[in-house]
Amino acid sequence: MHSELCNRCGSCVGLSEGKIIFDDREGRYLPRMVAEIDDKTADRLWNACSGKDFSFPEYNAHFYSEASHFHEYTGSYENIYIGHANDEAVRRNSASGGIISAILIYLLEKGRIDGVVTLRMSHEKPWLSEPFIATTRAEIMEAAQSKYTISSVNEILPECEKFDGTLAYVGIPPQVQSIRKLQKINDPSVKNIKYLFGPFYGNTLYFSSVKSFLKTYGEKDFTKITKLYFRYGEWPGNMRIEMKSGRVIELKKFHANYLIPFHVLKNSLYCTDFTNEFTDISGGDAWAPVYEDRGKGFSMIFTRTKAGQEIIDEMLKEDLLSAEVITEEEAIKMHSHGYDFKKRGSFIRIKFRKLTGKSIPDYGYKIGGFGASRYFMEMIISTMFVLMSTGLARRTVEQFPPGFIGKLFEKARTAWKNSTKKIKRDKLGS
Ligand SMILES: Cc1cc2nc3c(=O)[nH]c(=O)nc-3n(C[C@H](O)[C@H](O)[C@H](O)COP(=O)(O)OP(=O)(O)OC[C@H]3O[C@@H](n4cnc5c(N)ncnc54)[C@H](O)[C@@H]3O)c2cc1C
Repeated sequence: MHSELCNRCGSCVGLSEGKIIFDDREGRYLPRMVAEIDDKTADRLWNACSGKDFSFPEYNAHFYSEASHFHEYTGSYENIYIGHANDEAVRRNSASGGIISAILIYLLEKGRIDGVVTLRMSHEKPWLSEPFIATTRAEIMEAAQSKYTISSVNEILPECEKFDGTLAYVGIPPQVQSIRKLQKINDPSVKNIKYLFGPFYGNTLYFSSVKSFLKTYGEKDFTKITKLYFRYGEWPGNMRIEMKSGRVIELKKFHANYLIPFHVLKNSLYCTDFTNEFTDISGGDAWAPVYEDRGKGFSMIFTRTKAGQEIIDEMLKEDLLSAEVITEEEAIKMHSHGYDFKKRGSFIRIKFRKLTGKSIPDYGYKIGGFGASRYFMEMIISTMFVLMSTGLARRTVEQFPPGFIGKLFEKARTAWKNSTKKIKRDKLGS
């Protein structure tokens, strides 16, 4: 639990009957044992932990044996689409095209589920996220949008078990993987979960990112936050913080990305699941100039199970969604940077970690055979992550206006992406 492999999914906290807690959510956010745990519970928690191991081949064979397509970058799927929710209120309120929110509202209003396990910003501590069970359209809308700081959705498992009815569940890949581990052994905590949905997942950040962001604007007390958004307004949106004083701080999402190398959660660097491969339907941003220029949100959608495909087919028929099928090659090309980071970079970073003698996650598969240039590129990236996460680097960046740093970061990132395009796209999708 005190390893860098902990992904903070929250399962051990949720299933421990109060014996494991998160008491440092604004800090390292690690689970802490506060009472002795019996062997039976320990076994249950150990099994549910997706940070140390999650066999992709085993869970693919178990849950997706009938899938029409498989690629080691995307996982199993039926179809891939680019699209958006047709309900403008839902689309505008969401992170990308509002697909996830629209699906949840559809299932709830059709009576196919009774509640949704999802994540909102806390009412008591509006700077932190909290999982809850949404049972109305308004609550699903409240939970929309991406939260880029650590979330621990599976803390809510005891509530899921007690819930009177069927549930849809939304989570990022490490959380979904833990749910799949529990489903495979018919653990009672997940018996009410009927559908799994989730966003793509590049990385997540420590809460220090919010503290540091505030400091650059001269605000030292994060407890004065009344609202925190990561994707506010027109797609792709802004990071926006509202303070008790009435002050509003806002920075373009692409510029706020400068926080990533300074505050990234170590575990996200070892996670190899970019597109939430173990869901029924997963969604990400449709990053391409043709969509980005249009302002309103567009999503990329993977249907992965027959149940997921049926939902999309019905919603298309009822004109609740607009979506066009795209090819696997187009999908991989659109997110070549993300696939490279997760399906190549993560494996190389795991290799580097192994060389230092530290424990490594076991995903039951490996992707390898990259050229020397890709290893060299990873050495630069990994060194950057180490140097930029130091206190000195964080304090230094806080001396500059975030607008300036953000612009600089965006320019440097674009230049870096362009200069490494060949290395990254080499054999992608083949
Ligand atoms: C941490 C993180 C990293 C991401 N990285 C990428 C990326 O690199 N590339 C990319 O294309 N897309 C990425 N996404 C996905 C993207 O930001 C959108 O979430 C996705 O396109 C779905 O959009 P939507 O409009 O359909 O979702 P919405 O309708 O806005 O619904 C989003 C749902 O996800 C839930 N949710 C949001 N944040 C979290 C969280 N941290 N933990 C658990 N549940 C959460 C919400 O509660 C809501 O139910 C990331 C998302 C997150 C949360």
